[in-house]
Amino acid sequence: MKKLISLLLALVLCLALVGSVSAQEAAKPAKYVFFFIGDGMGSPQITATRYFLGTVNNPDAPFPVPAELSFTTFKSGGLMTTYDSTSFCPDSASTASSMASGEKTLSGVINYDVNKERQFKPITEYAKAAGKKIGIISSVSLDHATPAAFYAKVPSRNNYYDIAVQGLTGDTIDLIGGGGYKQPTGKEKDQKDVFEIAKENGFTFLNDNDAIRNLKPEDGERILMIAPDLAGSDAMQYEVDRRRINKEGGDSLSLADMTSSAINYLKDNEEGFFMMVEGGKLDWACHANDAVTTMYETIALSDAVQVAVDFAKDHPDETLIVVTGDHETGGLTIGFATTAYDTHFNYLDNQIISYEDFDKRVAKLREDGASFEDAMAVVEECYGMSMEEGKELSLTASEIGRMKDAYTMSMLPKAQRVIGEQESFLYGGYEPFTVTSAHILNNKAGLAYTSYAHTGLQIPVYAQGVGAENFLGFFDNTDIFFKFMSAMNLTPDIVKTASK
Ligand SMILES: [Zn+2]
Repeated sequence: MKKLISLLLALVLCLALVGSVSAQEAAKPAKYVFFFIGDGMGSPQITATRYFLGTVNNPDAPFPVPAELSFTTFKSGGLMTTYDSTSFCPDSASTASSMASGEKTLSGVINYDVNKERQFKPITEYAKAAGKKIGIISSVSLDHATPAAFYAKVPSRNNYYDIAVQGLTGDTIDLIGGGGYKQPTGKEKDQKDVFEIAKENGFTFLNDNDAIRNLKPEDGERILMIAPDLAGSDAMQYEVDRRRINKEGGDSLSLADMTSSAINYLKDNEEGFFMMVEGGKLDWACHANDAVTTMYETIALSDAVQVAVDFAKDHPDETLIVVTGDHETGGLTIGFATTAYDTHFNYLDNQIISYEDFDKRVAKLREDGASFEDAMAVVEECYGMSMEEGKELSLTASEIGRMKDAYTMSMLPKAQRVIGEQESFLYGGYEPFTVTSAHILNNKAGLAYTSYAHTGLQIPVYAQGVGAENFLGFFDNTDIFFKFMSAMNLTPDIVKTASK
């Protein structure tokens, strides 16, 4: 009996030891930290993309099947509020500052308090001081608000040149890449261009696909890499256009390509890395009410997250991946007045172009003085919608009327257009023929936008890996900073307060 008791005691002791070891392991700080931000990506964008992919991949299914994205299977997550100091419809500058630095501020302000006097300290500075390498990737220009909040402090997000210079002359960034610079030269005559500044500060500049794809740690002390085929506003191509370009024999880099190269460059470091990857064009597509382009941007972000998920498979006890949005854009929702309980997401597969590239087609139509019929032939080619009866995407008489009104406005030179309340409501400042094509296709599929601006929806947060349990529940965007700090076992200089 005594023997049995001592055996049992030994067993209990063993179990307790195992328990404490695993508790210690759970408390191990995250070595490799990924923070993915879909700009303008709320729950509707993610959900719509899941149904879109599920529909396209299961054409014979009698009901909509939601496909999983790389991050929608993550085991931890939550929902966060995104309001800023003055608005529940915040912008990317205040929201990125809140997530990067743990404090609220005004829209348009990057890492300054509401009085534009006191500077915030972004998480990248703490991570760098702790020995981590820092990577910043964005599909939009590198001086844009979201990436800027992870390396710059400026009273206005429009100080593009100052943002770029701070990033390149500061000692936080090891690698920055994706889009280009919106304002590579300063306004003063004696201000150097940012590429010269990059060189002086030890950056190796990569601007071709092979060099970016094959990036190795020995390629330079610090890396600035910019996709060579930039689209409008010095951003990378829209994913829907990139896929079309590559299908036609082109070679356009994806956000996943950029992420993969960044990992290869940063991973061989004893303390690991902190990497922020932004899918920045989701937001722009939502401003333009272009649902298909939005969903392809969401897919591009999901593909980039997949690269991190694959990396984490080799480093399961050391990697943390967090995916979220900064705010919702466009008031996108699933369901529309005329489709009620029906959805026809298969229609969306007919759109092969972003609003930005379609605008170029509209400009050409205007230049050529094209007829309405000629213009509608281009709509059929790019969106699948037809004036002929009996087709899958035949337009109704009232839809043709809306297209005709939009065509009339779009064929006028911009200076001659009269934009009243009604036109602002219908077109939101976008090319009327383009935005009307998107609206009609969205509505036919069972989707709609309520705004051309940001909204105040709460945003889902997905987390996986070491410290992912920190991101469970309902919280504010300022908490993201503290949750990352805790996952990396770092101590913030600021105290989290209820008002923040
Ligand atoms: Zn926006």
